[in-house]
Amino acid sequence: MRIVLVGPPGAGKGTQAAFLAKNLSIPHISTGDLFRANISQGTELGKKAKSYMDAGQLVPDEVTIGMAKDRMEQPDAVNGFLLDGFPRNVSQAEALDVALQADDVKLDAVLDLEVPEDEVVKRIAGRRICRNDSAHVFHVEYKQPKTEGVCDVCGGELYQRDDDQEETVRKRLEVYHTQTEPIIGYYQAQGLVKTISALGKVDEVTAKAMEALGR
Ligand code: AMP
Repeated sequence: MRIVLVGPPGAGKGTQAAFLAKNLSIPHISTGDLFRANISQGTELGKKAKSYMDAGQLVPDEVTIGMAKDRMEQPDAVNGFLLDGFPRNVSQAEALDVALQADDVKLDAVLDLEVPEDEVVKRIAGRRICRNDSAHVFHVEYKQPKTEGVCDVCGGELYQRDDDQEETVRKRLEVYHTQTEPIIGYYQAQGLVKTISALGKVDEVTAKAMEALGR
C-alpha cells in the first residue's frame, strides 16, 4: 500500500505511522526524521534545513522533494510506503503525483488525523522523544517513562525537540493551516481521504486507522 498520513503537529502521526507501517509491512518514511538525521550527522542538507525547522517553517521544496524522492526510491519502498510529514503543501503533493505516475503507481489512501487545537498544544509542549528512535514518544503528564529522562523501550535519552517550544508550536500550527491543510482538498478531489479522530488511546487510534484503510 502507498499511504500518506496528514494531521497537525501533535496529532500523533509519528506514533501511529510506526504502528501502521509495522502492521502493513511497509517502511515508515518521515521527512522530519530524515531532516533530524541529517542535522545530527552535520550534512549540508541538515545545515540548510535547521534554521527553517527551528523557526517552525517549512524547509524549501527544492531541498525537501529531492530528499523524499531519494528515500522512496530505496528498494524497501518499491511495493509501498507510509509517508509521514510529506507532502506538506500542494506543490509537494503535485511533485509526488508526478513521481508516482512516472512509476505507473498510485496512492491508495490519505489518512487524515483530526485533533482539536488546544489538545495539540498540550500534547506537544509535554512531549519527550528518544534520541535513538523518534517513534519512542513519551509525555511529562500523559505517558511518563518509568525513569525520568530515560526511554522505557531502549534506555535512550529522552529530549524535547527544539521546535516543540510553545512559540514554535504556534508557528507550526499556523503553517499547517495555511500550507498543509489545502492538500486535504487536493486529495479529496481524488477520492483518497479517510478522516479519523486522533483522540483516545494509541492502540484505539491505530485500530480506527486500520479499519479506515480497509485492513
Ligand atoms: P515533523 O517531524 O514532521 O514534525 O517535521 C519537523 C519539521 O521538519 C517541520 O516543522 C519542517 O520544518 C520540517 N519538515 C518536515 N517535513 C517537511 C516537508 N515535507 N516540507 C517542508 N518541511 C518539512
